[in-house]
Amino acid sequence: MGRYTGAKCRLCRREGVKLFLKGDRCYSGRCAATRRPSPPGQHGRFRRRPTQFSIHLREKQKAKRIYGVREAQFRGYVEAAKRWKGVTGEALLRYLESRLDNTVYRAGFASSRDKARQLINHGHFQVNGRHTNIPSYLVQEGDVVEVKPESRDKLRESVKAAAERRPLPTWLTRDLEGLRVQATGVPNLEELDQAIEVNLIVEFYSR
Ligand code: SF4
Repeated sequence: MGRYTGAKCRLCRREGVKLFLKGDRCYSGRCAATRRPSPPGQHGRFRRRPTQFSIHLREKQKAKRIYGVREAQFRGYVEAAKRWKGVTGEALLRYLESRLDNTVYRAGFASSRDKARQLINHGHFQVNGRHTNIPSYLVQEGDVVEVKPESRDKLRESVKAAAERRPLPTWLTRDLEGLRVQATGVPNLEELDQAIEVNLIVEFYSR
């Protein structure tokens, strides 16, 4: 199935929470999730009692939409997390947080994960000095992610504006002048920017 290209605000209204998919607009009074909190569609206002299945499904869809990951890739992360020796849910969240597009977003170098993905696809970033245009690249502890020298002048202002908006997680160290960020640890799950009940997701895939 292809990537969803419809209205992003519709996804927030479907999940009933702000997913922060549109950058600056999400922090303004124009946010659709604030102005029209009912689910989208003709019958959106008539809420049905959620079933156990729908509770699990919605939490999975919410996480997928926050990180902008397609179903097959998300399932792949779940399978990899199950093979991990620790707690499956924690491993799943670490995979999602370690993605390069998420790292660029959490570093404050882009106003949304979508925007981060676009910048990476367009070849504006390098990892450990090597050109990288794969948003799903998993950033390891010690990796240095930076804007490529030839893109710095172009991106400097937008990066600084985005960086002022959000706090930096403790597992990242940022050099705003050099437009560089280093992963100095593994993602701290207490610092996720949005609440995700990961147990519901693991249970969904264990049915
Ligand atoms: Fe979601 Fe942002 Fe749209 Fe609000 S503005 S509904 S947070 S995508």
